[in-house]
Amino acid sequence: MKEKIWLSSPHMGEEEQEYVQQAFETNWIAPLGPNVDGFEQDISAFTGAKHTAVLTSGTAALHLGLILLDVQPGDEVICSSFTFAASANPIRYQGATPIFIDSEPDTWNMDPELLRTAIEDRIEKGKKPKAIILVHLYGMPCKMDEIMDIAEEFGIPVLEDAAEALGSTYKGQSLGTFGKMGTLSFNGNKIITTSGGGALISDEEKLIEKARFLSTQARDDAPHYQHSQIGYNYRMSNVVAGIGRGQMQVLPKRVAQRRENYSFYKSRLSDIEGISFHEEPNPDMSTNRWLTTITVNPDETNGVSREDLRLALQEENIESRPLWKPMHQQPVFHSCPYYGNGVSDKLFNNGLCLPSGSNLTPADRERVVQTIVSVF
Ligand SMILES: *Cc1c(COP(=O)(O)O)cnc(C)c1O
Repeated sequence: MKEKIWLSSPHMGEEEQEYVQQAFETNWIAPLGPNVDGFEQDISAFTGAKHTAVLTSGTAALHLGLILLDVQPGDEVICSSFTFAASANPIRYQGATPIFIDSEPDTWNMDPELLRTAIEDRIEKGKKPKAIILVHLYGMPCKMDEIMDIAEEFGIPVLEDAAEALGSTYKGQSLGTFGKMGTLSFNGNKIITTSGGGALISDEEKLIEKARFLSTQARDDAPHYQHSQIGYNYRMSNVVAGIGRGQMQVLPKRVAQRRENYSFYKSRLSDIEGISFHEEPNPDMSTNRWLTTITVNPDETNGVSREDLRLALQEENIESRPLWKPMHQQPVFHSCPYYGNGVSDKLFNNGLCLPSGSNLTPADRERVVQTIVSVF
């Protein structure tokens, strides 16, 4: 069996073990400690968000975000349909209803026109959406000017799911810092990882302080254990945050390495008729290229499909993956309102994520390219 090439595997730098070691030496194994503070400061410095709370996962960050926006049972929350289920699940945790919006073809992210249509329609039906969860999929920025204008016009707060977009910018500003709050993920396959973790970021200190409070069981200020609100056990531990501090030091390098993967694949594969790359639509948008994604048009490839490529890669022990299956197609969300145009359905049918880890070797990438070329 040839050596496995992964879609996106963890890539440690030099410093992670030192921070973890420090936690052991000082016995800061208990949840809070200097690595938690340090990691939060590093994230704020990198993104420009004034305040950061590090948490156990990106999903926990989204859940707390919705709680802080006072999303209640029976409320409606708008969400990108083309995403990973973790973007939408926390809406359900709150007993609210997701309203799914399709993508536009330039960024593959939420279509501003459909967003407006949906808001107007929901208001007409009697309920103004409580929040908008806006996903920057595969690191590609949404059309932020258009979307934020609409959100402001209707006075609906935006929670940006930037789980895949740490290191991406729109007009030079970090994604996750446009909305009222933003969320990040440090899960194992993300651009940097703490093995599992996430963060909630915001310019509003009160929100982040409240997130820290809720994520540590919502304990009142008393010598005994007293609670006036329902709390959560969502805080990142000091050991895990030590990994995060080390990873922050290599983040710019990781972005460069992933962007280099994209350039390499594009230079070697874009001549193949029927294969398209996901270009940055304009110079305002800079993506971290978390994953390099292609679409395959079988009408132009003599019938070669996305699935043919995926299976050929699998045969060579190379992991690739279809693009995300949109939420409006998911059995668990089939009864939720959906405002569509067919864009994400088509992307799901024809799209493929290529191996994109920052630790791929030139030989690995060459194997990927050769396998794809051989199918043609
Ligand atoms: C990974 C991911 C999440 C969830 O993050 P976890 O840290 O795994 O909980 C949420 N949204 C998107 C778009 C993701 O890719």
